[in-house]
Amino acid sequence: MRRALIFTGLLSLAGACLLTQLPKAAAQAQQPQAQKQPAPPNSAQQPPAQPPQTLPTLHTVVIDAGHGGEDTGARGPTGLAEKDIVLEFAQAVASSLRSQGFEVVMTRTGDTDPSLDDRATIANAQPNAIFISLHVGSSGAVGTVRTYTYLFPATPQPALAAVPSASPSAATAAAAPQSTATPAPAGFLLWSEAQKPYVAQSVKLGDLVQVELAQKFKGSPEISSSVPVAVLRSVAAPAVAVEVSSVAADQQKLESLTADLASSIARAVAAYKTIYPPGGK
Ligand SMILES: [Zn+2]
Repeated sequence: MRRALIFTGLLSLAGACLLTQLPKAAAQAQQPQAQKQPAPPNSAQQPPAQPPQTLPTLHTVVIDAGHGGEDTGARGPTGLAEKDIVLEFAQAVASSLRSQGFEVVMTRTGDTDPSLDDRATIANAQPNAIFISLHVGSSGAVGTVRTYTYLFPATPQPALAAVPSASPSAATAAAAPQSTATPAPAGFLLWSEAQKPYVAQSVKLGDLVQVELAQKFKGSPEISSSVPVAVLRSVAAPAVAVEVSSVAADQQKLESLTADLASSIARAVAAYKTIYPPGGK
């Protein structure tokens, strides 16, 4: 039953918007752990009165309003465009998070269309951050909301072979494992797989978000789902996508969801902060 629901969700995302679109230039090596502080080389010789190393705490929330510019996202029967309503949602979510003391970075604040790589690049530049992408689907019961995390294929070999030829570096990297088991140098991750070390944390974040949403938006699932949401794939941080149903509703109805959406997400992020892991894993 759950499988069926997830599959439906995937179809809905794929049909509704470009969540499942692959990045335009997907593959380049990247070092998502750059924020980690290496141990000082002379630490053994330093005075013992050093303050204890403080663990990183969740500091920044990157809010991604999906689509924008020529990419309208899903379109409703009255011409309502997903790109416009998600920007309103994003601004409200940002405001709620700021009132909780979080730093907020938005991937767009106007009618622009940063590429998926641009959005991931913005996220990956922030230390101690999480990423939340906002969407409005074209299906689903009006007034329900779903949270998604990225699902990598269970078996890596076929996935590597399936990298499109438009991504030359990924194709090169995909060839490497045939002779060696190391697709990327130690300490590096493929850009297209930057989310991989964060999947478990993303699910924790996604479930916290979905639990809050389910309380306000009746008929929503109780937990998050995992699907290949392309915008999350290259984010080197806990990352989720939240999709509101749907553009079939009129603008007034969707706008009436804004306050609860913003407060639910802010509460979930505050809860996630208490379990935010050192090192971002
Ligand atoms: Zn979308």
